[in-house]
Amino acid sequence: MSTHSSEVSSSFDCPEDIHGEKRVQRVAGRGAQVGGGITVSRILPSSHRRMVGAWCFLDHAGPAVFTSGSGLRVGPHPHIGLQTFTWMIQGEVLHRDSLGHVQVVKPGQVNLMTAGRGISHTEESLPGEDKLHAVQLWIALPSKDAACEPAFDHHPDLPRWREGECDFTLLAGTYAQHQAPSKMYSPMVGMDLSSSQAGEVTLNLNPEFEYGFLVVQGTLGIQSEQFEANELAYVGRGLTQLSLSLSAGSRIIVLGGEPYTEELVLWWNFVGENKDVIGQAQRDWRAAHERFGVVHGYDGEPLIAPDLPWESQ
Ligand code: MN
Repeated sequence: MSTHSSEVSSSFDCPEDIHGEKRVQRVAGRGAQVGGGITVSRILPSSHRRMVGAWCFLDHAGPAVFTSGSGLRVGPHPHIGLQTFTWMIQGEVLHRDSLGHVQVVKPGQVNLMTAGRGISHTEESLPGEDKLHAVQLWIALPSKDAACEPAFDHHPDLPRWREGECDFTLLAGTYAQHQAPSKMYSPMVGMDLSSSQAGEVTLNLNPEFEYGFLVVQGTLGIQSEQFEANELAYVGRGLTQLSLSLSAGSRIIVLGGEPYTEELVLWWNFVGENKDVIGQAQRDWRAAHERFGVVHGYDGEPLIAPDLPWESQ
């Protein structure tokens, strides 16, 4: 759940205060194809919102039902400069990587892969699996950590609690007295909110963070604005509290973090501080350089890196 070929390196305006009221920006997902013919909704990056904190890529896959034996199939492909963060809601996906990890991620669990200077991996639905509902995110590493040693972590147990009718799962960072086990490289937070009943929940926000609220299911109301599935509501820094109106059966992903201020280029499966770093990774992947290792056990061909759009053919 990861490949794309858009280059995004311009900056975007933050919403301003209007008469003391925070303006909420609406970011709509758009359809994108990933391996195996699965269509996802790609919310970040978009032309109006590149990132939320260090969260720089956001795909919502499903909920989808497919014929058993088909489903997700993403062959060996490389990453640099980022962490991939997979949050399963329904179905199971098998991850294999060039460090030798073979790990199924199940509903309620997180797979976190730190690419650093280079890693490669595959993702596939298991034989017999016929469902997929997941969120896949990328987190940009700060430049000082961008070339760190690659790593993979599986997090089957995350902090969970309930406020009123709303079930909270902390995916990343800290919230109130809770701390997620996932290793992050910049101040940020990720949460899953799931509500069986319609109601209101008030979040305590970090005023240093900007936030995005992705509607996965149901509807979300913020300050008299209504958001539907595959829409992200963005609010800028400066808030300490925010009330969310959740419909019955809704699920919301909360992303937050300090605005990312360093230069950042996203291209294909690479994140880097400039085009040189990206270009080197593209050439290294094409040359099967050892920095990306080898994924064993996947029945299929590696993905081919496209031409660099900023180099003449
Ligand atoms: Mn990937």
